[in-house]
Amino acid sequence: MTNTKEIQAIDSAHYMHPFTDHKGLADKGVRIITKADNVYIWDSEGHKIFDAMSGLWCMNVGYGRKELVDVAAKQMQELPYYNSFFQTTNVPAVKLAEKIIQLAGENFSHVFFSTSGSEANDTNVRMVRHYWTTLGQPERTVIISRNNAYHGSTLVGSSLGGMSGMHAQGGMIPGIEHIEQPYHYGLAPNQDKDAFGIEAAGWLEKKILEVGAEKIAAFIGEPVQGAGGVIIPPKTYWPEIQRICDKYGILLICDEVICGFGRLGKWFGSQLFGAKPDLMTFAKGVTSGYIPLGGVVVGKRVANVLIEQGGEFNHGYTYSGHPVACAVALANIDILEKEGLVDQVLNETGPYLAEKYAELARHPLVGGAESCGLVAGFVLIKDKANHIHFDEELGVGMICRGHCFANGLIMRAVGDRMIIAPPLVTTKAQIDEMMGLIYLCLDATLTDLKQLGVF
Ligand SMILES: *Cc1c(COP(=O)(O)O)cnc(C)c1O
Repeated sequence: MTNTKEIQAIDSAHYMHPFTDHKGLADKGVRIITKADNVYIWDSEGHKIFDAMSGLWCMNVGYGRKELVDVAAKQMQELPYYNSFFQTTNVPAVKLAEKIIQLAGENFSHVFFSTSGSEANDTNVRMVRHYWTTLGQPERTVIISRNNAYHGSTLVGSSLGGMSGMHAQGGMIPGIEHIEQPYHYGLAPNQDKDAFGIEAAGWLEKKILEVGAEKIAAFIGEPVQGAGGVIIPPKTYWPEIQRICDKYGILLICDEVICGFGRLGKWFGSQLFGAKPDLMTFAKGVTSGYIPLGGVVVGKRVANVLIEQGGEFNHGYTYSGHPVACAVALANIDILEKEGLVDQVLNETGPYLAEKYAELARHPLVGGAESCGLVAGFVLIKDKANHIHFDEELGVGMICRGHCFANGLIMRAVGDRMIIAPPLVTTKAQIDEMMGLIYLCLDATLTDLKQLGVF
């Protein structure tokens, strides 16, 4: 038995948490998660909780997969670690690179491994700048990203990202530009959606012309923005982004850390949206979070130049191609394939969730409810007809999240947006169960808001 009070006291004394305001947390008491199975987690007080966030968007095959544990143990006994720096390699890393290239498609040829998504985006920045220098265009250094994007939490990751709260702490690296995000419901709900998609992609061209195309190295974007609140772009957006990148010869980086490995019903999100990236960032779902692993899938356009003309790329991580992580990733992909989970999301559970979210849109508090595969979001809204939002001060998202916590549901709040990304193993019956919890929490939130006199 976990002694909750004792662990909470030590946590408060010594454990500095990521993205946490610690003041007040000690009084409230941090929640201790002790075990997990399938789509459920349990806390130290024995509460069963539906994890509709897949941990942090990573638990694609669900908790409790003994196969992954066995593969890790076997690999640790055989070869727990060796690096790939000094003209050496290991079998799991080689096999995983081959597998990922098979899934990524014919535009790709190589994989560079990291331990996380943030590191992989660092690799991207160094790689695209090295690429242009190798081609004799060293002035092409600028990377264009988007407001409200999330590309990780290292200095490069947070600079690429479009979160002002992160920029305010530690600053930004030079050479990063941001354009507005393609958030139809938030920016132009009355405009035709497809027309908005074209207009939003056009902001990239505007920025290219403003900075000078000869200075731009790459554009980076998540196929569906995750941590920014699940912003699903209009279907016209990515083809137009692709056209603009092609027109100016700019490299396209798709950050697939959330969308990759089946989340949207394809192996990679860009495959769903009709983009042809030159580089793809991956992490999270590649191992379903059982062990840290990330990397960059490198397209032939970049790989050919770097390999033929680039010389030594002075870059790498101690744990690049870690044999245990790569072995677990292979076993994880094997589960996704054998159980047909990616197709299940595309053809069954994704459309089912979309139906449920279309119904959810009728709830008086819910605006812009939308899903794509097994990722979904809506905004808590004060006046739907007139698109009037709640006062930020009110923290309506946190009120709703509190009810979710209390009722056994992990649903995340990003400002007033409530988002989910359940494990890919979630069944239709479990989607029903999850929707039941969502309605319960929305009704409880509505009662609070009425009592506060703001609804
Ligand atoms: C989580 C995330 C990252 C960062 O990955 P870490 O493993 O936390 O470094 C980068 N990009 C996207 C889209 C993410 O969701």
